[in-house]
Amino acid sequence: MSGASVKVAVRVRPFNSRETSKESKCIIQMQGNSTIISNPKNPKDPAKSFSFDHSYWSHTTPEDPAFASQSLVYNDLGKEMLQHAFDGYNVCIFAYGQTGAGKSYTMMGRQEEGQEGIIPLLCEELFEKINDNNKEEISYSVEVSYMEIYCERVRDLLNPKNKGNLRVREHPLLGPYVEDLSKLAVTSYNDINDLMDAGNKARTVAATNMNETSSRSHAVFTIVFTQKKYDSETELSTEKVSKVSLVDLAGSERADSTGAKGTRLKEGANINKSLTTLGKVISALAEVSKKKKKTDFIPYRDSVLTWLLRENLGGNSRTAMVAALSPADINYDETLSTLRYADRAK
Ligand code: ADP
Repeated sequence: MSGASVKVAVRVRPFNSRETSKESKCIIQMQGNSTIISNPKNPKDPAKSFSFDHSYWSHTTPEDPAFASQSLVYNDLGKEMLQHAFDGYNVCIFAYGQTGAGKSYTMMGRQEEGQEGIIPLLCEELFEKINDNNKEEISYSVEVSYMEIYCERVRDLLNPKNKGNLRVREHPLLGPYVEDLSKLAVTSYNDINDLMDAGNKARTVAATNMNETSSRSHAVFTIVFTQKKYDSETELSTEKVSKVSLVDLAGSERADSTGAKGTRLKEGANINKSLTTLGKVISALAEVSKKKKKTDFIPYRDSVLTWLLRENLGGNSRTAMVAALSPADINYDETLSTLRYADRAK
C-alpha cells in the first residue's frame, strides 16, 4: 500500500443452507492473493482472475490449512489500521457485498470464542494498548458514536428515541459532521461492547426475498481516539486525534434482483447512490495515488456516506475494504459485480 490508496481484501464464506439445498457448486477459487471466478452459465467463458492484497478462503473449516479465520483477517487488516490510528491517522474499514455474503460476520462476527469480527477485536486491542501505554505523560480518551444511514438519512443508533433525520453539517475546521449525534465516552472494552449491542438491536432491518434480516442501511461505528501528551520540560501538551470509522455497508445487490417494488425500489436507488459514490470516490483516490497527483476531483459530496467519511478516506487517512463473496453458482452475477467493485478500489 502506498500513499492514500486502499488496502483491498476479498473473502468467500461457506455455503448457506439455501445454497446447500439447491446443491450449489462453488465457482470461486483462490490461489495466493488471486481470486478466480468461473461462469456457471457458460463453461466456455474463460475464468476471470483478480488479484487483491488478500484473498481469504473461508469456504471450508478451520481444519483446512488454507482457511482464513476471524483472527487472521483481523491481524492482517484491523491491527494495521489500529496502529495507524495510534500514529495519528484517521482510518476506515468497510465491508462491501451482496446481502448474506458475510459483511456483518467479518465486521461484527458472533459473540463466541474465535468468532468475533474486526470491530470487537479492534476495540479490545485498543484498550489493551491504552492500558499498556498508560504512562504519566500520555493520557487517552475514547468516544464512540454509532449511526445508520438509510435512504440518505442519518439515524442515531445510540439514541434510538431520536428517530429523526439528523442534519449533516460542516465545521469550518473539522469538516462534515452529524448534528446532535450522541458521542459517548468509554473507558473499557465492556463499555463499547454494551453500546454496540444496544446499537445493533436498534438497526433497521427489513425482509427481502434474498434474506429475512437483510440490511438495507449502512451502519457506521466511529471511535474518536485522543492522545494527549504532556512534556514536563516545556510544560506543553500536544494532542493527536484520530477517527476510526468501521462501516458495514448495505447489501450491494441491484434492486431488481431482489424483487423490489415501490419503496423498496426507491430504497435500492438511494442505497446504491451511496455505494456507487463510494466506489467512485475510492477509485478516484486510487488514481490520485497511482499518478502521485495531489489534486483531483473527488465526488465526496454526492452522497451522505462519502461526505461523512471524507476525513477518513482521503488525505491524512488509511482505508481498508473487505468485499464479501458468496461461493455459489446461483450468485454469479452479484459476485462478479462485487469483484469488479473491489478491483476498481485498488
Ligand atoms: P451480510 O452481513 O453480508 O448480509 P452475514 O455476515 O450476516 O451477511 O452472513 C450471512 C450468514 O453467513 C450468517 O449466518 C453468517 O454467520 C454466515 N457467515 C458469513 N461469513 C462467514 C464465514 N466466513 N464463516 C462462517 N460463517 C459465515
